[in-house]
Amino acid sequence: MKNNNKIILVVGLGLLGMSLAMALKKRGRSVLGYNRHREAVNYGIREGILLSESAGELAELLALADIIFLALPIPATVDFVRKNAAKFKKGAVLTDLNSTKGAFMEAAEKYLAPQNIRYVGSHPMAGTEKSGYLNAFESLYDNADVFICPAANDNGEAAEIEELWQLITCKTVRITPEKHDNLVARTSHVAHILASALTISVLGYEDKKDNFAGCAGGFRDTSRTASSNPVMWKEIIENNREAVLKAMDYFDSAYGKFRKIIEEGRFEDFEKEFAHGRELREEWLEYMENKKNRIRK
Ligand code: NAD
Repeated sequence: MKNNNKIILVVGLGLLGMSLAMALKKRGRSVLGYNRHREAVNYGIREGILLSESAGELAELLALADIIFLALPIPATVDFVRKNAAKFKKGAVLTDLNSTKGAFMEAAEKYLAPQNIRYVGSHPMAGTEKSGYLNAFESLYDNADVFICPAANDNGEAAEIEELWQLITCKTVRITPEKHDNLVARTSHVAHILASALTISVLGYEDKKDNFAGCAGGFRDTSRTASSNPVMWKEIIENNREAVLKAMDYFDSAYGKFRKIIEEGRFEDFEKEFAHGRELREEWLEYMENKKNRIRK
């Protein structure tokens, strides 16, 4: 395999970054790690996930790295690309893991392209509501779909990055940044807002003790992502405002339809609408089940 001997650097050793380092290390890849707080780096070296050279300064790591994954918050990703554009190794390929693709692709075009540094956008559809390296785990990316946004003048670097995602059992899907940001506004961003709004509407009104007693497994499932990091979600929504507003219209329309049906007492229609939702979810569950059957490398 082409990437076998290349040195990989993961910048940002939180949930996504440390889990990625673990998954790559498991497949025998050489992984360096960098984080603004040293504890995560020390932990990675101690656990045998990261090469001991990770203890060095950032400039030393950039001089060694052939492939760089930026697993940072969105503003920090843009900042990192801007500050270090002239410091990457010749021939290096950069990618990010951000939940929106517009910010990284624009920063890369602006700061990396003039330095002839190659780049490609990535977004793994994997994660949990937790943050930080202590919540990282090796199987986070198992069978995950990963969206890939090649640069306009891609010269094989998208394929290089895809190879690494596939190595850790992911399925890669090429997409434009615009299409990606519109899609995830619906599938992820608005879904997180809804989990939060649902939690507030259920637990934030009337008697809290009664509310707590009245919530069980169903509420736990539907509200899970309301426990996500508020700072990270502020950054994601801020970076995808237009698409999120458009996606909120879809929700308004679906929710409004239920409301109207109930107001008008059309309960046969309620049953049909609810059955429609169930059917769509069953189809999606089947898709998820089929994903598990993908051949693991
Ligand atoms: P995290 O908070 O667990 O990790 C972020 C890491 O970046 C931490 O190690 C932190 O020390 C470091 N960091 C933070 N600010 C920094 C700065 N200004 N400069 C340098 N380092 C900094 O977050 P995460 O869940 O791993 O998410 C990272 C990225 O992955 C986010 O951009 C998010 O959009 C994307 N993402 C997250 C999920 C998810 O479910 N958590 C899923 C897909 C993509």
